[in-house]
Amino acid sequence: MSPAAAPRALPHAFLMSDLHLDAGRPDLTAIFLRFLRRAGGRVEALFLLGDIFEAWIGDDDDAPWLDAVVDGLCRASDAGVRIHFQHGNRDFLLGGDFAARTGMTLLPETLALELGGVPTALCHGDALCTGDVGYQAFRRRSRAPDWQAQVLATPLEARRGLARQLRQDSIEGQRRILDQGGELADVNETAVQACLRDCGAVRLIHGHTHRPATHRVALGPSAAGERIVLADWRSAGEALEVRPDGSYLRHVLTA
Ligand code: MN
Repeated sequence: MSPAAAPRALPHAFLMSDLHLDAGRPDLTAIFLRFLRRAGGRVEALFLLGDIFEAWIGDDDDAPWLDAVVDGLCRASDAGVRIHFQHGNRDFLLGGDFAARTGMTLLPETLALELGGVPTALCHGDALCTGDVGYQAFRRRSRAPDWQAQVLATPLEARRGLARQLRQDSIEGQRRILDQGGELADVNETAVQACLRDCGAVRLIHGHTHRPATHRVALGPSAAGERIVLADWRSAGEALEVRPDGSYLRHVLTA
């Protein structure tokens, strides 16, 4: 299957992020698979905006629980659902092999398109958290092709260990911040405004922060845009539907 180009305009789409699918959360996988089963004929485009997987150690991962996910994505693709994938900070190693195998299109880290008639920007959201200097340094390092090639050349078991280590570091880092009375990183307003301007958009949709809400964004003396933050799936599944009139609806998903 040859990779499709990123869409420039769509009247209708569903978006989700931060599922954090993992062998230890079969309940979340079941919700996702049910959505995919029902999507054929109803969903023309599905945008997966990152951290779909709790960790991604390479397209050669042979973990058995992934088989059902591959099958679900393939069946939805075959049923006519165009599935678009943007990398999160957990699954940034997901590559062209997995995308080709499941019929997904890999998107650039920020995508500008017209969604429901609204000029829209889509991204995972981690790059907007510019206040987290340590993470941004890791992000730059880990997105470099050399770093990725080096990691992917190590045995699967070593990569599983690295993923565990990164997750542990992240948990401990967050605990340290909270212990010191600090707040976990949120997006930087200036970075949000720059993203909207660069994309020529008035609506930004992202995940990552696990703080679902809709915010007004000042774009000039009399201009404003909006920022829609997708929910993570820790407590319930969510899909955001953008309709042809530009309105949107958050759907709670169950298994
Ligand atoms: Mn994230």
